[in-house]
Amino acid sequence: MAYQALYRVWRSQRFDDLVGQEAITKTLKNAIQQQKTSHAYLFTGPRGTGKTSAAKIFAKAINCPNSVDGEPCNECEMCRSITEGRQEDVIEIDAASNNGVEEIRFIRDRANYAPTAAKYKVYIIDEVHMLSTGAFNALLKTLEEPKEHVIFVLATTEPHKIPATIISRTQRFDFKRIGVSAIIGRMAYILEQSNQPYEEQALSVIARAAEGGMRDALSILDQAISFSNETITLADALAVTGSLTTEMMDRFIGACLQQDVSSALEVLENILAEGKEARRLTEDLLLYCRDLLMYQQAPKLLESRAAYLTDPFKQLAETTASERLYSMIKILSDTQNEIRFTNHANVYLEVATVKLATPQTAAANAANVQVSPATNPVDQAELTALKTQLQQVQKELQQLKANPTVEKEERKAAAPKKSANSYRVPTERVYQVLSEATKDHLLNVKNVWEDLLMALPVTQRAMLKASEPMAAGPSLLLVAFDYEIVCQRADSNDELRLNLQNSLSMMIKNYTPEFVFITRESWPRLRQAFLSQHHDRPIEMEASDSEEKISLLPKETNEVVEQAKSLFGDLVTIKED
Ligand SMILES: [Zn+2]
Repeated sequence: MAYQALYRVWRSQRFDDLVGQEAITKTLKNAIQQQKTSHAYLFTGPRGTGKTSAAKIFAKAINCPNSVDGEPCNECEMCRSITEGRQEDVIEIDAASNNGVEEIRFIRDRANYAPTAAKYKVYIIDEVHMLSTGAFNALLKTLEEPKEHVIFVLATTEPHKIPATIISRTQRFDFKRIGVSAIIGRMAYILEQSNQPYEEQALSVIARAAEGGMRDALSILDQAISFSNETITLADALAVTGSLTTEMMDRFIGACLQQDVSSALEVLENILAEGKEARRLTEDLLLYCRDLLMYQQAPKLLESRAAYLTDPFKQLAETTASERLYSMIKILSDTQNEIRFTNHANVYLEVATVKLATPQTAAANAANVQVSPATNPVDQAELTALKTQLQQVQKELQQLKANPTVEKEERKAAAPKKSANSYRVPTERVYQVLSEATKDHLLNVKNVWEDLLMALPVTQRAMLKASEPMAAGPSLLLVAFDYEIVCQRADSNDELRLNLQNSLSMMIKNYTPEFVFITRESWPRLRQAFLSQHHDRPIEMEASDSEEKISLLPKETNEVVEQAKSLFGDLVTIKED
C-alpha cells in the first residue's frame, strides 16, 4: 500500500478526537443532541486547526442514525459514505477553485430539493473568503431563505474578507491555535499506535515549530520519520525543523552581547527573512536567554533538556554576567507585551535589538535608574553612533505606523494616501456619516457601547478604551479616538472592524454599520465644516428667486438646525451670518 500522510490517516473522525478545540466541539455536540443546530455556521481560524475536520464530523453526526451524545458512530453506511466523500447529500466545495457565481447558483438550485439519502444536506465551503463578490451575493440570497433540510458550513482562515452581511447570518466559531502540550499529546498517541519509537524532546521541538497547527505538526512528524533511523531523535527533529534558527540565535545573541548593533540587526533581518514569525522569535530568544542563565547555575540539568547546547551557547553562558542576562530578559519580555498589540512586530523587534545591544541604555530603561555620567564614562563617539542608529529605527517605526500595511490589496488601493506622520482623517466619509446620522441611532449605539467593548478580545478592547461613538446612521458609525496612534491602528485593523460589526449586529438587531474612525482632536473642525456647508445651501436657494422656495427657507434652515441638534445635542452652536 502506498504511503499515506499521517494527517490523512489520523484525521479526526469524532469531536472528541479534535485536539485543542474543546469549547467548540462541546457546543456543537450539545446542539446536535438537543436538535438545535443552526442553518449556517462559520468556522474561522489558522490553517490546520481542525475547521474542515469539524465540518465533516458535524455532517456525519447530524445524519448518523446511531449518533450518541452528538458524536457519529463512524460505522454505519451513512457515516462511511461521508468519510469516504461519496455521500451526495454532503457536498464539499473548495472556494479557492470554484469562486464563480454559477457554482453558487447551482448550489442554490440544488438546495431546493430535499436530500436523497441523508436527513440534512450539508454544504461545506472551504476557503469561503475566496468567493467572488457575485458569488457572495448569490450565497447571501441562499442564506436569507434558509431551508429546513439544508445546512451550510463555511470555513475560512481570513474572516475579515467575508462580508458582514454573510457573517451576521451564521453562527461563528473561532478555532484557536492548538497548544504545544496538546499537539505533543496527539503526536505521542499516534506514534504509540503506530509502534514508532521516539524521544520526547523531539516531539516538543516539532510541536513548537508547528506554531499551533496540527496538520503542520503531523507533516513535520512525517518528515522526521523518514529522516530518522528507527527512533525519532531530538537531532532528527532539529534537522527537520531547521537547526538553522538555532545557529542564527547563537549569532544574534552573540552580536548583542558584543554590543555589535549592526551585526545583530543583520542577523535579525536574516532570521525574519527565513519566514520566522516575530512573536515566535521573541519567545525563542526569551527562552534562549533564560537557558543561558540556567546553564550558568545548573549546566547538568540543562544538558539533558535544552535543544541547543551548541559551543557558542556554552561560551556565551560562561562569559556573560547574569545581571546582563536579567536585563535582556526584561527587554525581551517587554517587547513580547508590546508586539501583542501591533501589526508591525518586526519593527518593535528591531528597536528591541538596538536596546539589547546597547547595555547602558538597556540597564537604564529596564531598572529605570539614573545613570550618572561621572561613574559611567561612555565613549562619546560610540554613544553618538548608537543614538543615530536608534533614531533611524525609530523613524522607520514612525513611518510604518503612519503607513500601516493593509492586508487587502483592494483596500490599499482605495484608501487615501496617508501623510508620513499623521492619520489622515477621511473627511468625505465623515460627512457621509453626518448626513445620514440620527440621534436615535447614536443613542442605541451608546447604550450598548460598554457591552460591545466587553465582547471584544482583550487587545482590541484596550484599543477602544479611549474612544467614543460620535455620530451614527443606518449604515455608518463614527468613532473618535483620544490618541492618533490608536486611531491609526484601529483603522488598519480589519479584524477589529469585523468583530465590532459582528458584536453590534447581535446587540442591535441587523445593525451592521461601516465604521469610520477619526481623532477626537479633529472632531470640532469637522463638525463645524459640515454644519456650515449645510447652512449655506438654503441661502443659495434664496437667490434662485422662486417664491415657493423662499417661503420654504425658514423651515429648511430650522430643519438643519434641528438635525444638527439631534446629531450633536447641546454641543451645537449655529453661527449666524
Ligand atoms: Zn453512523
